[in-house]
Amino acid sequence: MGRKFNFCAGPAALPEAVLAQARDEMLDWQGRGLSVMEMSHRSDEMVAIATAAEQDLRELLHIPANYKVLFLQGGASMQFSAIPLNLMPSGGSADYLNTGQWSKKAIEEAQRYGKVNVVASAKDSNFSTIPAFDGWKLDKNAAYFHYTPNETIGGVEFHWIPDTGNVPLVADMSSTILSRPVDVSKFGVIYAGAQKNIGPAGLTIVIVSEDLLGRARDITPTMLDWKVAADNESMYNTPPTYAWYLAGLVFKWLKAQGGVEGMAAINERKAKKLYGYIDSSGFYRNPVELQSRSWMNVPFVLPDEKLDKPFLAGAEEAGLLNLKGHRSVGGMRASIYNAVGEDAVDALIAYMQAFAARHG
Ligand SMILES: *Cc1c(COP(=O)(O)O)cnc(C)c1O
Repeated sequence: MGRKFNFCAGPAALPEAVLAQARDEMLDWQGRGLSVMEMSHRSDEMVAIATAAEQDLRELLHIPANYKVLFLQGGASMQFSAIPLNLMPSGGSADYLNTGQWSKKAIEEAQRYGKVNVVASAKDSNFSTIPAFDGWKLDKNAAYFHYTPNETIGGVEFHWIPDTGNVPLVADMSSTILSRPVDVSKFGVIYAGAQKNIGPAGLTIVIVSEDLLGRARDITPTMLDWKVAADNESMYNTPPTYAWYLAGLVFKWLKAQGGVEGMAAINERKAKKLYGYIDSSGFYRNPVELQSRSWMNVPFVLPDEKLDKPFLAGAEEAGLLNLKGHRSVGGMRASIYNAVGEDAVDALIAYMQAFAARHG
């Protein structure tokens, strides 16, 4: 069996141990004689799987009791609509920070529902920086403040949490959740599509402070109303049961790795190694300002675009998959999520060194 190193930005690599367990349990889950995929979502078995997954996630992120954890569908992109529909009153406004492509999508969607105040934009630096906090034009009457702690495409990450006073913080953590500890109590809402650092595509997680529930506009579709989801234990309709089960296996795997704290130490080491090599190579270049470089998504360019094709072809041959950068920015991108081990980063660096030696 030839499993290769997968640097895909999403859907991304999953821990091999999790896939193996899913394979072993696929036809007959724990002697019940059926697959998790074939279970009623209201069966005792599935409710136990769902409850355990939530409990493990709560432990991993130390989620306070006054927060609800929702297991939804529609991806992070669906939450771009759900956020204003749940939090922005008719005629109200919200603050957004623009640090790149995912922030921009969230902004464009929110603009359909009300006034969006873009507090600052990193456009002038071609989205390679985080605008200095003291220049943000925050509105203390905003319904909420939205930002993207890790811009998956640009590789720009916050290593700090903005202080917006009484305005609730709403964070799209799709590509950074579970990669490092986070003080959930500082946030009103944290949301993430699962397919980067949680599990397979099809599941979306929303962690929301209870005091923000029950504010949805009348026009909010029932399926987007967080309170409906919370009141129904995320089972108002059929949830993505198999993705939920797999996420639960990933949470157990994470706990065995030393939890989010253990993972963070590994992730920091991986990132430092890769950036360290890029910076010292005299060949590859990462455009992001030093203090905002992502631990999860590492974009880099070669000295000449003409080298991109041979670089990617050689990488494939070396068993290093999905290093092509996002179509909007070009170059390369190595996504090194939790399930991408240090051995993968070492193999990538070894390949990059050999390629630079041949073409430098
Ligand atoms: C991948 C990603 C999204 C989009 O997620 P979907 O689940 O495909 O909607 C949104 N925001 C960020 C930061 C992402 O990385």
